[in-house]
Amino acid sequence: PGPQLPHDPTKKTLVILGSGWGATSLLNSLDTVDYNVIVISPKNYFLFTPLLPSVAVGTLSPRSILQPTRYVTRHKKRQVTVIEASATDVDPTTKTVTFADTSEIQGLVSTTTIPYDYLVFAVGAEVQTFNIPGVREHACFMKELEDAEKMQRRFLDCLESAAFPGQSTEEIKRLLHMVVVGGGPTGVELSGELHDFLEQDLRSWYPELAEHVRISLVEALPSVLPMFSKQLIDYTESTFKEAKIDILTKTMVKEVRDKSVVLQLPDKSIAEVPCGLVVWAAGNTLRKVTRDLMAKFPDVQTNRRGITVDECLRMVGSNGSIFAIGDCTATSYAPTAQVASQEGAYLARVLAQLAKKDEAEARLRELQAQSADALSPEAKEEREQIEKRLAKLEKVRPFKYSHQGSLAYIGSDKAIADLPFFNGNLATGGVATFLFWRSAYLSTLFSMRNRILVATDWLYVKLFGRDVSRE
Ligand code: FAD
Ligand code: NAD
Repeated sequence: PGPQLPHDPTKKTLVILGSGWGATSLLNSLDTVDYNVIVISPKNYFLFTPLLPSVAVGTLSPRSILQPTRYVTRHKKRQVTVIEASATDVDPTTKTVTFADTSEIQGLVSTTTIPYDYLVFAVGAEVQTFNIPGVREHACFMKELEDAEKMQRRFLDCLESAAFPGQSTEEIKRLLHMVVVGGGPTGVELSGELHDFLEQDLRSWYPELAEHVRISLVEALPSVLPMFSKQLIDYTESTFKEAKIDILTKTMVKEVRDKSVVLQLPDKSIAEVPCGLVVWAAGNTLRKVTRDLMAKFPDVQTNRRGITVDECLRMVGSNGSIFAIGDCTATSYAPTAQVASQEGAYLARVLAQLAKKDEAEARLRELQAQSADALSPEAKEEREQIEKRLAKLEKVRPFKYSHQGSLAYIGSDKAIADLPFFNGNLATGGVATFLFWRSAYLSTLFSMRNRILVATDWLYVKLFGRDVSRE
């Protein structure tokens, strides 16, 4: 019944949950000869999140920042099974994962359970709404590809509705007021991209409307981008001021309505501000599948930020059979792509070591099954060698994160960068940093195909502008 998984009973089964930064980086480095590898993710692709805001305003086309997971796995030495499904339950006692096809079209079988020897839990996080009323109903998110596509459609809809004959100035102003909630890097980059769209395209396509477009960035804390150095925060704030992007700090969104946002201002008063579009970029929270898994280790998995792992990224309490990486974990590192991808690459090395250890243990068991007198001198020698090797393989080097710096695009062809520099820090912002930002992301894209697509999109937009047709 059904296509069989390419299963080799002599090898252990490695199940990887997710196809994001952590999982894809692991897959890229993993020697798939060592395991029966199964990847389970509701998306059958990897999404290059740093360029997602560029998709939301049409600078890049969606396909340019996607990489099909099968594109990665088809180049591996041994076949990898890719399953488009969401993990719904992990049972650490029976060492099984249950997953379901949650897509639009389903066959007769749409949920099943498989066993694992090792599980890599890399399901990322989901958008945090803090249960604020109206967020899910009326705001757009900026986390998944469909979020960016939805935002682009709504933004263009606002423009076309504002262009409808007879619209009052007040209504035009409402429709063209874009509110971005969250002054973290996602909110800042998106505001910058929206501003570019306005300046570089909308002024020519919708000259009568452009002057009414307003972008407000709302942040609950006293400043935007708290993870960047003070100098770069100031630089971003002054660039936004010039770009006429309003930054409202110490201001908290309390409710999102159909045609407005309700704000709590710094003096604690409440104001209802009319707007056409709200983009919610207020941070992340754990997925249900992660919370459920943690609940199975109630004594040790109590951190509300995520899964607690040891220095080798093993989930605490799981006896070494579950590894967790990326945004679903609670570590001392920020939840970034940089961290998740380094963790993925590290885990590939750990798993290679574990495969060697498992192989040595199996051989040792074979040798130990024979009585010592029956062993030839060569076999005795081999046993000693294996025991020595095992002692070495037992020691797993802990994960060490190497920070390569923080980069963010702030619009107007400017970027900011906090880079480690000779044991110190180099904070830089401007047009040269923007060119550095572009080249850094171009080289980080996982494949030549994506690099060519992104570079071509950038050139296309430079020559012809962004597309304003609403699909
Ligand atoms: P993800 O990359 O989110 O991957 C999670 C995977 O799990 C996905 O494939 C998802 O489909 C899958 N999944 C979800 N549910 C299930 C389930 N039930 N079962 C199985 N699979 C599941 N970081 C930076 O360092 N630099 C940046 O410039 C940067 N820019 C960003 C811009 C935006 C707009 C966003 C949203 C994030 C950005 N980040 C950036 C943060 C970065 O994207 C995350 O830290 C990173 O994606 C975390 O990697 P991950 O593998 O843990 O999760
Ligand atoms: P974030 O958590 O960094 O920022 C969310 C912001 O929203 C916070 O500053 C919070 O104070 C604010 N907020 C929350 N609720 C609010 C409310 N009701 N009203 C007003 N403000 C509210 O989220 P993010 O920007 O999506 O980033 C998530 C992670 O991804 C971070 O670790 C970040 O470093 C990483 N990231 C990095 C880059 C980059 O390096 N260029 C880009 C995007 C994301």
